[in-house]
Amino acid sequence: TVKTRFAPSPTGFLHVGGARTALYSWLYAKANNGEFVLRIEDTDIERSTQEACDAILLGMDWLGLNWDEGPHYQTKRFDRYNEVIAQMLEEGTAYKCYCSRARVEKLREEQAEKGERQGYDGHCRDHAPRDTDEEYVIRFKTPLTGSVVFDDHVRGRIEISNEELDDFIIARSDGTPTYNFCVVVDDWDMGITCVVRGEDHINNTPKQINVLKALNAPIPEYAHVAMILGDDGAKLSKRHGAVSVMQYRDDGYLPEALLNYLVRLGWSHGDQEVFSMDEMKELFSLDAINKAASAFNTEKLIWLNQHYIKSLPAEYVAEHLMWHMMDQGIDMSNGPELSQVVTALSERAKTLKELAASSRYFYEDYETFDEAAAKKHLRGVAMEPLKLVQEKVAALAEWTPEAIHQAIQDTAAELEVGMGKVGMPLRVAVTGAGQSPSLDTTIYLIGKERCIQRIEKAVE
Ligand code: GLU
Repeated sequence: TVKTRFAPSPTGFLHVGGARTALYSWLYAKANNGEFVLRIEDTDIERSTQEACDAILLGMDWLGLNWDEGPHYQTKRFDRYNEVIAQMLEEGTAYKCYCSRARVEKLREEQAEKGERQGYDGHCRDHAPRDTDEEYVIRFKTPLTGSVVFDDHVRGRIEISNEELDDFIIARSDGTPTYNFCVVVDDWDMGITCVVRGEDHINNTPKQINVLKALNAPIPEYAHVAMILGDDGAKLSKRHGAVSVMQYRDDGYLPEALLNYLVRLGWSHGDQEVFSMDEMKELFSLDAINKAASAFNTEKLIWLNQHYIKSLPAEYVAEHLMWHMMDQGIDMSNGPELSQVVTALSERAKTLKELAASSRYFYEDYETFDEAAAKKHLRGVAMEPLKLVQEKVAALAEWTPEAIHQAIQDTAAELEVGMGKVGMPLRVAVTGAGQSPSLDTTIYLIGKERCIQRIEKAVE
């Protein structure tokens, strides 16, 4: 069975590049009825923080990328890494290297001067074990001949000659295992069948494959995903706006929109743009991932967000909207069901943040009128229509959008004016602004008592 993993280093928040890698890895597992593992690569103690770790878990959670196993933490696995290192020393696939830092540095300088490939020269490779308390590092015995070949799902066939690889360090002089080594032991122990990760790791892959071979471990498949660029062609960074997944939540995006956006950013299925989660799971394939880097396009993300705000069930959208209502301090103790507000406003909102902001008058009395709207529709305008419509609204036996519509219509007919002469002042009176969704629904949701009070205030 397929088993994939996402293996972030907790040195910062979950950014969109990481989220896309996680999504591809997750989808590949889901598409194949497989399992998805979350592994936190926190061996770089200096740069890893608990805060970053929490932020990554929060991001994964918000996106709904659930894991079947984990999170595993590399810092909890040192005993296992040491065990494998001892085994490799025993078997002779690794060796202790007593070369001083100075020697290794000098070697590099000389190689650089001669324009040679830089790397360790294997000086200690065939020495007999020493009985000394000198400091040492442990190096992997890279095969001297042959090459590493793998078929990358994205990049195709890749072949690297072993002559290009040196005997790299797998444990430092303080005993701590190095990154390339931990990844190998983990992927092996966790039974990972396919490694999906950023192409910045492609140079590590031949080294990792060599170690796997030395351990007689199965070699997983690989898919190295290209970078994400900003709209100016430079590598996506903070400079281009939001890059943290949680910033997209804060800015009012639905996870469905971001996931749909990310799946299409570097992968395609014909010219289809909108994919439900089920469709993604069904249609995703690693082989259809683009080789080229993709450019981030905020317009398209907004378009998808609008699509999902309009088309997902209002109750569901309301759950996400709730966060923004709280964030904007809107007191919801008095007013309609949030899902009704979603239904009323979903056609016009680009983001949930906007939707929350424009729903405030359903719950709280507005403080001031929109100046332009008040000037045009309230001030110096005959108050007659407002007074009459207030009476009619107050007299309604039944509180439905249809009955409210009828009251507005009757008022206009009685005064022999157009509907707008009643509707516009009424809209400004009840919402404080010149724009709202259909007036009958708006008034219906605001509620009878509140409406009457607001008209009262406007005619004062
Ligand atoms: N921890 C690595 C990173 O965050 C990922 C390594 C891997 O996926 O093999 O870039």
